Amino acid sequence: MALSEFSLIQRFFQQTTSANATTNLGIGDDCALMSIPAGYQLAITTDTMVENVHFFADADPEALGHKLLAVNLSDLASMGATPLAVTLALTLPQVDESWLTAFSHGFLSLAKQHQVDLIGGDTTRGPLTLTVQAMGIVPSGKALLRSSAQVGDLICLSGNIGDAGLGLKIHQGYTCANPAEALQQFNRPNPQITIGQALLGIATACIDLSDGLVGDLGHILQQSQVGACLDWSALPLSEAVLSYIAASNDWAMPLTAGDDYQLCFTLPADALERLPTGCTVIGKIEATPGLRLNKAGAIHPLAIKAYEHFSA
Ligand code: ADP
Ligand code: MG
Repeated sequence: MALSEFSLIQRFFQQTTSANATTNLGIGDDCALMSIPAGYQLAITTDTMVENVHFFADADPEALGHKLLAVNLSDLASMGATPLAVTLALTLPQVDESWLTAFSHGFLSLAKQHQVDLIGGDTTRGPLTLTVQAMGIVPSGKALLRSSAQVGDLICLSGNIGDAGLGLKIHQGYTCANPAEALQQFNRPNPQITIGQALLGIATACIDLSDGLVGDLGHILQQSQVGACLDWSALPLSEAVLSYIAASNDWAMPLTAGDDYQLCFTLPADALERLPTGCTVIGKIEATPGLRLNKAGAIHPLAIKAYEHFSA
């Protein structure tokens, strides 16, 4: 590599100040050190993005840096955790300084926005692969799990669904009159950290939508051993997604397309007045297993199929 591994890390990733007090030692030693405050559990998650699997080879590196961190912070949001620190494992085919400048800018700007420290990582040569491990804290015993939805709970969403799916279609050549919002959602998702934290002590179960509502809500249903019925007319859909459906009749797209990174959570019916602003009730947890959709009075069964990297 033109630039040495150490100077690359120093130049693009090492920060001179830390964003929060739990970071005791950041980049530069064999390990980073963090202090976990008493009464909290450490929430840990990792997500990898692989070129041509999770992003296009010509993807804007600034947006890629943002999205790589966002998808990891989204996992912390779905547990109700407050993000504190991340590590970054980079496998790069070569040292491309302008790519690294844009990528690190996208990554570190979002980190700063959420007071998250980049405390370490690894840098290797190979096919472009980006991995983040994110760590946050959540009050002990209070994390929002997938396994505790109850029959009678309301099913809620933190924002619109389907815009990221439409954004992907636009990248693939679909043309629409107002593509900006869909492209923004696909390229630069916003982790719903504030809403996740607001749901602590209120929501019974929560998941973030990475693989599509049907598959991800399916995880809650399976782990909580319940079923659900969704109300088509209640789904929060943007004008652009509604026009796409009107033109294509592909009404399943917002239910199955991935990359929304909204939170899907369940709420006891008597907690409805505590639903955070901007969230929508889209259905109800039922005792009958499986997922159904009520569309103008007709009940459609929805096959729960999670995205599988190793399926044929
Ligand atoms: P080691 O050989 O002990 O694994 P490295 O030489 O790989 O250490 O890394 C030196 C320091 O730089 C470590 O503190 C490591 O956590 C950090 N680091 C390496 N790569 C990155 C990266 N891509 N982003 C942030 N920190 C990194
Ligand atoms: Mg190393």
